Parts: sequence; C-alpha cells; structure tokens
Amino acid sequence: MADNTNSALFKRALEVVPGGVSSPVRAFKSVGGTPYFVSRADGAYVWDVEDRRYLDYVQSYGASILGHAHPEVVEAIRQAAGEGTTFGAPTEREVLLAEAICDRVGAGCDLVRFVSSGTEAAMSAVRVARGFTGRNRVVMFEGCYHGHSDMLLAAGGSGMATLGLPASAGVPPSAVAETMVVPYNTVPDIDDDVACVIVEPIAANMGLVPPAPGFLQGLRDACDRAGALLVFDEVITGFRLARAGASGFTGVRPDLWTFGKVIGGGLPLAAFAGRREVMEALAPVGPVYQAGTLSGNPVATAAGLTVLGLLDDAAYSMLAGRAAELGAMLAGVLNEVTPAQVPVVGTLVGVFFGDDLVTTFAGSRASATTGWYARFFRAMLERGVALAPGPYEVMFPSLAHTWDDIERTVDLARAAIAVA
Ligand SMILES: *Cc1c(COP(=O)(O)O)cnc(C)c1O
Repeated sequence: MADNTNSALFKRALEVVPGGVSSPVRAFKSVGGTPYFVSRADGAYVWDVEDRRYLDYVQSYGASILGHAHPEVVEAIRQAAGEGTTFGAPTEREVLLAEAICDRVGAGCDLVRFVSSGTEAAMSAVRVARGFTGRNRVVMFEGCYHGHSDMLLAAGGSGMATLGLPASAGVPPSAVAETMVVPYNTVPDIDDDVACVIVEPIAANMGLVPPAPGFLQGLRDACDRAGALLVFDEVITGFRLARAGASGFTGVRPDLWTFGKVIGGGLPLAAFAGRREVMEALAPVGPVYQAGTLSGNPVATAAGLTVLGLLDDAAYSMLAGRAAELGAMLAGVLNEVTPAQVPVVGTLVGVFFGDDLVTTFAGSRASATTGWYARFFRAMLERGVALAPGPYEVMFPSLAHTWDDIERTVDLARAAIAVA
C-alpha cells in the first residue's frame, strides 16, 4: 500500500473518484492546496491521516452541533445498529423524531416526511407545493443553496427577476424553465402562477447573510396575496440556530420546512414538514409521489433523537454566546490587517473580506474575489485550524468548542491574517 499521507491518498483518490472527492467543495479548488484526509475526530477536533490535529469549524457543515463522536450519540448508534440497520418497515423512532420536530417548531408543523439528504428534502418540498397548489412556478434567491436537484440548480440572469438558466452542465433549460431566480433580501412580485417561494431564512451558503428587516415577513405577505406556499429551507438553520430553528428565531412561519444536517446526528437523514392539509397531498394519502428505501433509517433516527434530546435552551444560549464572542474577537483581529465583516446570527458565524456589509450574492462574490479568504484559510490550516474550504461557507462552532478553543482560534487568526 502507498504511504498514508494526505497527498498520497489524494493521488490515489484522483484515480478512482472524480476530482478525488465525494462532494466538490472538499477538493480545495477555491482555496488551493491538497485536502486533508480525516482519520478520526473527537469533540472540536479532527485528525488527518498524518496525525495532524485541527480545531474544526467545518463540523460536517454544521451537522455535528455537539462536536464529533459525542459519547451519547455514538452509544445510541451502536445500540441501534445492533438491532438492525434498515428494515423497509416503519419504526417507533420515526414517530418519536417526528414528534420532537413538531414539538420544537410548533404551529403549522403538523406532519413530517423523512428522507436521506437535504437535496431530497428541498426537491420533495417543492414537489408537494406544486402538487398541492396545482401550479408550476418556483421562486428562489440568488446565492441560496437547496441541494442539487435539477430544478433548483438555477442561476439568475442579469435582471431583477429572471427565469432561471441552468447553473450546471447536465441541467436542461426545460428543467429550470419554471424556476425564477431573484436577488436575496428583496421581496419580488409573486404572481398567481407561483407554487412556492423557497428561501434560506438566514442564508448560509453564500457566507452568512442575515435577512434584512421585513424581508421574510414581506415574502410571507406576498405568498399569502398570491396563494403561493412559502418554504423555509432550514437544512442548516434547523435546530442549529435555535431550539425552534429559524422560524422560531425570526417569528415568520412558512407553510413548509426542510431539515437536514443536525437532525441526523451526523448520519444521512433529512426531512420536510408542513401543515396537515399540504403534507397530505403526499402518497399514500394524496397524489404526490415520493419515497425512499432508506428513508427514516433506524440508525440515523437514533442519532438524531439523541442529539435533539441534548439540545435544550441552555445549550443554544451557550453556543450563541461562544459564537458571539468568536465573531466579535475575530472581527477585531482581522480588521487590524484588512477590512472584514464577521456577521453572527445565533450560533452561526460568517467571514467576509471587504468594506461593505454583505446583503446579496453580488456582495458575497465581491468578497470572495478579493482572494483574502483563500489566503486566510491556508494560513489557518497551517496553524491547525480547519475552516470550510470555500469563501461561500460559514463557521460552525460546536458545543464541544470551549472558551479556550475560541480564544486560541482568535490568537491563531491574528498570526494567520498577518501573513495571509
Ligand atoms: C446542505 C444544504 C442542502 C443540501 O443538503 P444535502 O444533505 O447536502 O443534500 C440543502 N439546503 C441547504 C440550505 C443546505 O445547507
């Protein structure tokens, strides 16, 4: 066997996996260098195959909110796995997890359907919205990410409200012909041929971009006037931002929610949810088909239930406190060298380089093209801090990140930005 270094493994990976990775951002293309191959993780830290340790702010893009390999989660997985890993029949844990989600989210979240990825959740939520309303048009926002289904891989044109263009090769123009892409933080005109408006209530896939005051309520009102459904894609914010997710945090209630990342406790699990009458459009009750062999997987639901069980109000306020501290101190350190914005929303922290507060994808792109993020990323990685390998991601402190970890991050950031 070849020697077990990151570069040797990456070389082998390139022979058998496109680009060497199972998901493109992991390839480091936008930051440069060779990806580290993780051999194990514990709490706030990951170790690569060369036994280098990194203080980890990726945390599987937010999925690992308790930190890696939390003992109670590992034990729940071990126990569930011993009882069988998939059955093709319903289990009690699906009921318990659906009840836990409805209890947290509250009014309007009546029925939950489990799937295996955020992509599936968003795709299926749009399908049920179309089936329920009998309309085809979907409105989405530039810079929001809703997974890689054809109809949601749409790019905006240059105008204010344009019909989508394929954002990827392999997506036919017909697949996005009913997808309208508009700028974030501006309430678009919603016509009565719109089935749904799908939005990240706090955008976290173009860096961290909070909703402008009135934006989400404006969408709610516009949807109500047009008879369209409002979909909050909470695959990141769901149960990471706050106990009730973004709808609880912002007070604006959508008709449909999507969840992922945190609810699987680090295993593949996602869900979409909504009002009973909308969700009952789904088969076997209604005419909208949707299914999955591994949906509601018994090991993933065991992990998810354990994680949600540990996430009480005290956990969220502790995490939000650490995120606020990290954001404030990081902003100070970065701005000593170059203008930077470090937005914090709840437990999420973003990093933008440049003078201006970022409110749209255009602003996020302008920050990314300065090249500062890529240089800062590399300087941090050299110092043993793993940020997400792309300027459009956010920082995910976990409950395993101690105050000492946060302070060390800021010290290392001071050293890193000085040479970036
Ligand atoms: C990660 C993400 C998705 C896609 O989830 P996958 O599990 O990667 O398919 C969808 N929407 C949002 C907001 C996400 O952050």
